[in-house]
Parts: sequence; structure tokens; C-alpha cells
Amino acid sequence: MAKETLLIIEDERDIIEVIEYNFEREGYTILSATNGERGLEIARSQQPAAVILDLMLPGLDGIEVARRLRQDPSTREVAIIMLTAKGEESDVILGLGVGADDYVTKPFKVKELLARVKAVLRRGPLVDDGSGGKRLEVGDLVIDNAKYQVLHKGKEVPLTLTEFKLLSALASVPGRVFTRDRLLEKIQGDAFIDERNIDVHVRSIRKKLGDDTDYIVTVRGVGYKFKE
Ligand code: CA
Repeated sequence: MAKETLLIIEDERDIIEVIEYNFEREGYTILSATNGERGLEIARSQQPAAVILDLMLPGLDGIEVARRLRQDPSTREVAIIMLTAKGEESDVILGLGVGADDYVTKPFKVKELLARVKAVLRRGPLVDDGSGGKRLEVGDLVIDNAKYQVLHKGKEVPLTLTEFKLLSALASVPGRVFTRDRLLEKIQGDAFIDERNIDVHVRSIRKKLGDDTDYIVTVRGVGYKFKE
């Protein structure tokens, strides 16, 4: 079965080779670039389903490449998986902040990268936000973006507008990690909210949903995600 085309942007050729070999065996078509400029060109012309993007690149770095992918209408919806160096938590936060869908820490096992890529592709294209009047059904939850209403097991959950926006943003892409910064963007327009308050709102949402639920998962040092 023909699978998606993926693009890897990485300046270490042996990593490209390892990924090419293993992913092509799984049926993917792999394109590659050893610098960001070339990678962006290929992404625009070939429209891959996902980009595996190394953070440390000569010239344009991975963060800048991710930012440009997200800015360009022709590549805005591509899945982005970042390759980051071990222990560089700040890089992960930056990467997710500019819209990467997931990250894998170097050195990585090809199997792990494969699993992440598959998971991200399964989720489908990046959903910009939850304000499109869509109705999301996840587990026992129904999130109605037209009515600003959340039902849990059929019962309405009395969320504030800010709480609703947070939950809706997180649930729009289950499994995707949102930094506090990005969540803050999602609830813009609500006065007097700073990053730390995000934690308070999340606690309140959890409480209102019931302490036995585990819909919102804390990603330590980074932010939150909706459970997959
Ligand atoms: Ca590199």
C-alpha cells in the first residue's frame, strides 16, 4: 500500500540514511534536505504529509524552519516532528511554541520515531482552533463550539468562557502538547490572564469534570495535552 511522503530536514547524512532505510521499508516515500532553505523549497513543491525537522541546522535553524512552514499557506497544515538534543527542554518549548506537533529526543530509536510519525499522521492535519462551530466528541465528553457548551456523560459542565476555550483548544488535537504560551494565545481576549493562571484554570476544569477523569494530561516542564 502506498503511504505518505515524508520530508526529513537534517544535516547529518547518516541520520537521513537510517530514516530513509527504515521508513521506506514501511512503505513511506522519503524526501530529504540537508539545510532549512532547501527543505522549505521541497515542502512547498512536494507537499509532504509530515516533516521530520532537526533543530540544529546550519543557516536557518529548525525553529525558524517550523515558523516559516506554519506561516506559508501552502505548508501550514503539514505535520512537524522535531528532532531535539537531549536535555534541551527550552528547545522543546520553543519548537512546540512555533507549532511543531511532537518531538523526539536524540539519540532516538527509529522505531520510536516511526511510532510518533504514525501517531501524528493519524491525528490528521493541524486544527487551527476550536472556534469553527465544530462539535467534538471524545470519550464521555461532548464539546460544542457553537454553543460554548461541554457535556460530560450527558450532563452540562459549568465552565467559564476561559475554561471552555482552554479545553476546546486542547481537545482540538488530542495528544498534541500545548505550551502555556500557546494556550494563552488561544484564550486571548480574556483580560488579566498570565501563564501561571493557565495552571489554575486547568485545575478548575479538572475539578469540574470530576477528579476521576484524566482528559487533561500535564507534560512536565512544557505544558498540557488532551489524552489520546
Ligand atoms: Ca543537526
